[in-house]
Amino acid sequence: MTMIKLARSQRVKAWAQSSRAGTALATRYVAGSNVVEAVDCATQLLRNSQIRASLFYLGEYVDTSDLVAENVAAKIAVAKALGKADLDVHVSVDPTQIGHQIDPAMARQNAFRIAEAIASASLGHEGSHMLMLDMEDQGVTDATLTLHNDIRAAGLPVAVTLQAYLKRTTNDMKELIALGATVRLVKGAFAAGRDVAYTTRCEVKENSRNLIDLMFSKEAKAAGFKPIIATHDDELRQYASQRAKVQGWLKGADYEFEMLLGVRSELAAWQASNGERVRLYTPFGNDWWPHAMRRIGENPANGLLLARSLVSS
Ligand SMILES: Cc1cc2nc3c(=O)[nH]c(=O)nc-3n(C[C@H](O)[C@H](O)[C@H](O)COP(=O)(O)OP(=O)(O)OC[C@H]3O[C@@H](n4cnc5c(N)ncnc54)[C@H](O)[C@@H]3O)c2cc1C
Repeated sequence: MTMIKLARSQRVKAWAQSSRAGTALATRYVAGSNVVEAVDCATQLLRNSQIRASLFYLGEYVDTSDLVAENVAAKIAVAKALGKADLDVHVSVDPTQIGHQIDPAMARQNAFRIAEAIASASLGHEGSHMLMLDMEDQGVTDATLTLHNDIRAAGLPVAVTLQAYLKRTTNDMKELIALGATVRLVKGAFAAGRDVAYTTRCEVKENSRNLIDLMFSKEAKAAGFKPIIATHDDELRQYASQRAKVQGWLKGADYEFEMLLGVRSELAAWQASNGERVRLYTPFGNDWWPHAMRRIGENPANGLLLARSLVSS
C-alpha cells in the first residue's frame, strides 16, 4: 500500500525523478531516458546475454493530447531506431498512453500508426517484430482485444497480453488460439471483484497453469499460435517449459519467456544460456517513478534498495 501511495505521489515523483537517489533506482529498472539509451541497452542485452528486448516508453493513463502525441512519437522513433540497429522491432504499448481515455478512436488510429511503423522498420530484418499491446484494468479489456483483432486483420504485426487473474481469460485465450495469435500471459497487476476475478495468489497461479495448458496444446500449435510466458515465478516457468517439451514445442524458437528489466536478472540470463528464448520488457523515458515503485513493492527485499538509495542521496 505504501508503495502504491509513493508511486502515485506527484511531489515525491517530481523530487525522485530529478535527484541523485532517483538515478540509482532508475538505473536498475529503466534503460535510460531516451531512444538512443534504450536501443543501446537492447543492443547490449542481445550481445552480452542473447536476451531480446521489448521497448516501452514510460507514461500511463495519459489524459492530455500533448502527452499522447509525445508517447506516440517516442514509440515510432524507437521502432525506427530498433530497425536501424537490426534488432527485433518489438514495442510495448498501453492503450491508455496513446489516448484511449481521451478518445478511443484516436487511440485506435495511433495504434495503427505504431504498428505500421513497426512493419516498415522491420522490413528485410530477421527476428520477431511486434506491437505488443499491454493489458490494463478490466475496463479496457474488450477495447484492447478489439484493437488487437483489427490490427491483426489488417495484416500488421501485433500481439496482446492476457491476465490470469480474470475469469474471462480462458475464453479470450481460446479465441486468440483459434486465430493463431501471439499472446503474452501475465498474472495481472490489477484487482477486481470475485464475480469476475480470481482474488487469491493460489487461484491466480492455478488459473495460470490451466492457461499454460491451453497455450501449449496441440490445437494451439496447429493453429500457429505463439505463447509468451511473462513471469518471474519459478514454478510457472518450469511448468511452461515442461508443457512445451511434452507437447513438442521447439525450445528457443516456438515460444518465449518475458521478464522485466532489473527483476531477477540472473534467472533471465540463466534461461537464455540454457537455450530458451528470453525477452526483457525494457522501459525508458523520464517518467519512471511509478514503474520503479511498483517493482519495489512486488518484493519486500527491494525496500532495502529504496532505503539505501534515499539515504545515500
Ligand atoms: C514482461 C511482463 C509484462 C507485463 N505486462 C503486464 C500487463 O500488460 N498487464 C498487467 O496487468 N500486468 C503485466 N505484468 C505484471 C504481471 O501481471 C505481474 O504483476 C508481475 O509480473 C508479478 O507477477 P509474477 O508472475 O512475476 O510473480 P510473483 O509471484 O509476483 O513473483 C514471483 C517471484 O519473483 C520475485 N519477484 C517478483 N517481482 C520482483 C521484483 N520486482 N524484484 C525482485 N523479485 C521479484 C518474487 O519475490 C517471487 O519470488 C507484466 C509482467 C511482465 C514480466
